[in-house]
Amino acid sequence: MFASKLLKRHVLELKHVCGGRQAFSSGITSKQRSQMENLESHTSQTRLETSSAKTMMDIGTRRIFNEDHDIFRKSVRRFFQEEVVPHHKDWEKAGQVSRELWEKAGEQGLLGVMIPEEHGGIGGDVFSAAITWEEQMYCNCTGPGFALHSDIVMPYIINYGSKEQIERFIPNMTAGKCIGAIAMTEPGAGSDLQGVRTYAKKDGSDWILNGNKVFITNGWMADLVVVVTVTNREAKTAAHGISLFLVEDGMKGFQKGRKLDKIGLKAQDTAELFFEDVRLPATALLGELNKGFYYLMNELPQERLLIADMAIASCEFMFEETRNYVLQRKAFGKTIAHLQTVQHKLAELKTEICVGRSFVDNCLLLLAEKRLDPSTASMAKFWASELQNKVATQCLQLHGGWGYMLEYPIAKAFVDSRVQPIYGGTNEIMKELIARSIVSQK
Ligand SMILES: Cc1cc2nc3c(=O)[nH]c(=O)nc-3n(C[C@H](O)[C@H](O)[C@H](O)COP(=O)(O)OP(=O)(O)OC[C@H]3O[C@@H](n4cnc5c(N)ncnc54)[C@H](O)[C@@H]3O)c2cc1C
Repeated sequence: MFASKLLKRHVLELKHVCGGRQAFSSGITSKQRSQMENLESHTSQTRLETSSAKTMMDIGTRRIFNEDHDIFRKSVRRFFQEEVVPHHKDWEKAGQVSRELWEKAGEQGLLGVMIPEEHGGIGGDVFSAAITWEEQMYCNCTGPGFALHSDIVMPYIINYGSKEQIERFIPNMTAGKCIGAIAMTEPGAGSDLQGVRTYAKKDGSDWILNGNKVFITNGWMADLVVVVTVTNREAKTAAHGISLFLVEDGMKGFQKGRKLDKIGLKAQDTAELFFEDVRLPATALLGELNKGFYYLMNELPQERLLIADMAIASCEFMFEETRNYVLQRKAFGKTIAHLQTVQHKLAELKTEICVGRSFVDNCLLLLAEKRLDPSTASMAKFWASELQNKVATQCLQLHGGWGYMLEYPIAKAFVDSRVQPIYGGTNEIMKELIARSIVSQK
């Protein structure tokens, strides 16, 4: 499976070895070429899984990746360390990241990694996209809404958009010049999406949109929003009367509310959106009329796996933070890592994280093969996000009082973890979906 995509990925990784899309066009050095060839001579059989690796965030581990991915990961890691970590505290105060960051990420080819090259992407695979999700968690910086923009919003446009919509939006989105959001949730409709009230009424060939949305990731900075809208109030079920529209910032009657004051994700610009008699041309409809619910059901497994993978990556980060802490923190004349209760706690956590990693990596493989079913994706989202909160609580505990101080990374990881069982469909809804597939199989 890997071999068939090797050439494509070489292109992808070489772009990064050379420092991004611009540098790629100027060619690579012979030293870089020989580095690539040497790496290629290693086989995936030599790769360690996280359970045996020195640390859980080591580059060069996990059989789902290859050496090309390792080079890409190094480059993504460097980007987050250099361009995100130094500014994140300021962005937490501002409640948003900078526009400049989005454009830098675009220049480096980190937005829409899976978008084909002909549409301005770098034609990467699922595993390359997963690297961008994981590296963001490894640097403990939750501000940039890159994953939602790249791997939740863009797929709707690529998969259901017209040629004109793809050409108009996707190149700007991969360049970080057009920030994407998706607006499903309303003050009165979250888990029950069929309860959406935002309504578009036909007016000639146009549509007139009214309603409001809440808790929208990237909402404040968004240039383009995929809005889940009722278009047929008389449909046989609500699900048969829902459509998706592309609403652009600056359209008359489209207002953004305040950036919401959250307990975590402080640098993420989660916002409310208001639509008052927004006139939309027929070309704003995404895909077919009244097929919106069907599109949502198709795309949600990838969204859920993305959350699961980020959850496990966060566990890996928190575990390593805590291992380092207990190895230097002293009590009763020794480091607390000498205490058997601490050792056993770390042993339990490591085991659970590695079990979770194994399941989520398998789901990534299934996603790459287009075989990830909704129930399995729900299991991953439910289980990994619960584990993330358990690991956050226990790792914070191992930091004692310092763990409660926001200056310690574990405190930030703890508050940022809390939303994971809530968004992307709550874990209670995940259990509904899993249960439905269990009882309907007989
Ligand atoms: C930081 C953040 C970012 C978000 N980003 C986005 C975004 O970008 N786009 C977007 O559209 N939405 C977004 N959301 C919204 C999120 O998806 C919803 O909050 C979530 O789906 C739950 O909906 P709700 O808040 O209305 O809760 P409700 O649906 O009111 O649920 C309340 C409680 O009831 C439980 N419950 C509801 N129905 C059932 C049932 N059938 N069985 C068992 N229990 C049930 C829920 O599990 C929950 O515990 C975001 C939310 C947050 C907090």
